[in-house]
Amino acid sequence: MLFKAPEGAAVRNRRKDRKMSVTIKSPREIELMRHSCKVLAEIHERLKEEVKPGISTLELDIMAERLIRENKCIPNFLHYNGFPASICASVNEEIVHGIPRKDKILKEGDIISIDCGCIYEGYHSDAARTHAVGKISPELEKLIRETENSFYAGIKKAVAGNHLNDICTAIEDYITPFGYGIVEELTGHGIGTHMHEDPSIPNFAMNRRGVKLRPGMTFAIEPMINLGRADVIFHDDGWTTTTADGLPSAHYENTILITEEGEPEILTLL
Ligand code: MG
Ligand code: MG
Repeated sequence: MLFKAPEGAAVRNRRKDRKMSVTIKSPREIELMRHSCKVLAEIHERLKEEVKPGISTLELDIMAERLIRENKCIPNFLHYNGFPASICASVNEEIVHGIPRKDKILKEGDIISIDCGCIYEGYHSDAARTHAVGKISPELEKLIRETENSFYAGIKKAVAGNHLNDICTAIEDYITPFGYGIVEELTGHGIGTHMHEDPSIPNFAMNRRGVKLRPGMTFAIEPMINLGRADVIFHDDGWTTTTADGLPSAHYENTILITEEGEPEILTLL
């Protein structure tokens, strides 16, 4: 799930961060987050196997909630600001926050982003994947692949001693040559005892360095990349966010841990 910056794209030009409180997790807290994230990574693997033509997004949601609870975790999306489900299921031009529905049936050639999270002993995880439904066009395969690659370009800079904007800039620099649209109204975020903690993490360069990265910080980094223009429409259900031009969009997210040295640990991958 995403952090909706109240000031939208103005985040790029803000001169100074408002007062930030970016939490540093203790070794015990990191262990709890590792567990929460491992459970989520396994659930994503199971959901991926179910993505095929003919399944409804509601069936995927029911399965996700069952797996979360079987693992003694709690779905953190369910009832978050009134969200009615345990996953966001966003198909084709839906960017994020799609509400699972019985009558939303996947078809050959669609792409679907599944965003999911859970809580273990008070600690949150959050991750998203975009999957092909059956055979998709090379153009969409490339969109999914480069969205994932932009995440990896970003986290190469998620190194203690760097600043937040090093991550943001690396994502934008990676995506720009492809001519894709980078969603600006929604951002990644810190994560821990809350799903959305400081800082908010745009997928584009800010005009300030942002917080200094320290070991024990945990972030959800989540590029949302549109095949066409960056503009988005927020729909009347209060959640579903689509591209303004109706072209498809991909989303990729992991929860990561800033480590003492070198690249971060990706907590939501097996
Ligand atoms: Mg998410
Ligand atoms: Mg998130």
